[in-house]
Amino acid sequence: MNEPARVIRGRLLIFDDEPRLAGDKAMRLIEDGAALIDKGLIAALGKASEITAKAPAGARTDDHSGKLILPGFIDTHIHYPQTRVIASYGAQLLEWLQKYTFVEEQKLRDPRHADMVARFFLDELFRQGTTTAMVYCTVHPESVDAFFAESERRGARMIAGKVMMDRNAPEALCDTPQLGYDQTNALIQRWRGKGRLDYAISPRFAPTSTEAQLEASGALAREHPEAYVQTHLCENRAEIAFVRELFPWTKTYTEVYARYGLLGPRSVFGHCIHLEESEVDLLAQSGSIAAFCPTSNLFLGSGLFDMRRLHAHSPPVRVSLATDVGGGTSYSMLQTANEAYKVLQMNGQSWQAAQAFYQMTLGNARALGLDQRVGSLRAGAEADLIVLDPGATPAMAHRMEAVKGDLAEELFILMMLGDDRAIAETYVAGRPVKRGTI
Ligand SMILES: [Zn+2]
Repeated sequence: MNEPARVIRGRLLIFDDEPRLAGDKAMRLIEDGAALIDKGLIAALGKASEITAKAPAGARTDDHSGKLILPGFIDTHIHYPQTRVIASYGAQLLEWLQKYTFVEEQKLRDPRHADMVARFFLDELFRQGTTTAMVYCTVHPESVDAFFAESERRGARMIAGKVMMDRNAPEALCDTPQLGYDQTNALIQRWRGKGRLDYAISPRFAPTSTEAQLEASGALAREHPEAYVQTHLCENRAEIAFVRELFPWTKTYTEVYARYGLLGPRSVFGHCIHLEESEVDLLAQSGSIAAFCPTSNLFLGSGLFDMRRLHAHSPPVRVSLATDVGGGTSYSMLQTANEAYKVLQMNGQSWQAAQAFYQMTLGNARALGLDQRVGSLRAGAEADLIVLDPGATPAMAHRMEAVKGDLAEELFILMMLGDDRAIAETYVAGRPVKRGTI
């Protein structure tokens, strides 16, 4: 896979900081810019004329003049086994799991099926401009092997883990505290640090784990402090009531995870909608990350995420943005930002386009502690890039005519009207992958 150097030319959109905090200084645009890519990394960035002059002989040029070049999108919460569950009618969380998800997840016991789904999933992420994701597999180690093998083959930076469940799920999807612990250990040994892969210890959520399993999960987190933890928290009111029933000693849902040592700066909690003040405080004090999944929260009727409250807390809760497919209804981070904007509108909160694009790239990279590697356009970073076409559809091109030269408007139109059609190209480790990989 020794690729020649490549010059990618277009309008470079560079985030140095968070627009919400740093204002206009946070973002720069190099109108006729280029990135020189070599050996999977960004070797240099700047004006196209300078970069072209610097490029080694034999370098190829991909000319995307007029289009925006950004880091690849990062999705902090998604379930790859749910690609055939997305858009399942008529249920809220607990019923949706039983009726659709737990049925589909059983099929990933078959490695051939898991391979097929992993290939589809990665093709789809790349088509949508997502180059890194934090992914739930199923309870079967085979599903994790399939996902990691395919990610490694494609040279992608991915985080994933085997779901652990030992109650309130079909027998075929349950492990035991010991089995979940042993299989997770083995998977961490096998995959963590291989290529660009990392591991997330993944108890699905408190309702499907006994106290013994949560304890085993906490032990794994202690024994592998470099790995991530991912689970779900305070998504739905019936779920919260169920947690209170299952853990009668607890005052809050978050306290259950806290008791077993599952909070921390490498722990990502999906949803975090219905939080009591003490829970916001636990998340904030531990540096845990809340994953806002707007299309899922609307689709499953779960509730409205309160971004302002989490940002305003002292210290703030770290926030990320995610699709949560298949509870979520789109693989597109642009469409996810669109729905996030509307959810925040419902709570009287605004969300500027610059902040949204920051969140999908550098913001999510920071949330996952990956900002030295991905999520930003800078020399030395890994070359996961996307090219956005603001005039991808007739409606977008028509609308864009009215705001020529206004970057904030252009970005807002992209996030409200854009989807996979607006992704002109996706580069993973410097290689174009939007139209599939070999
Ligand atoms: Zn989820």
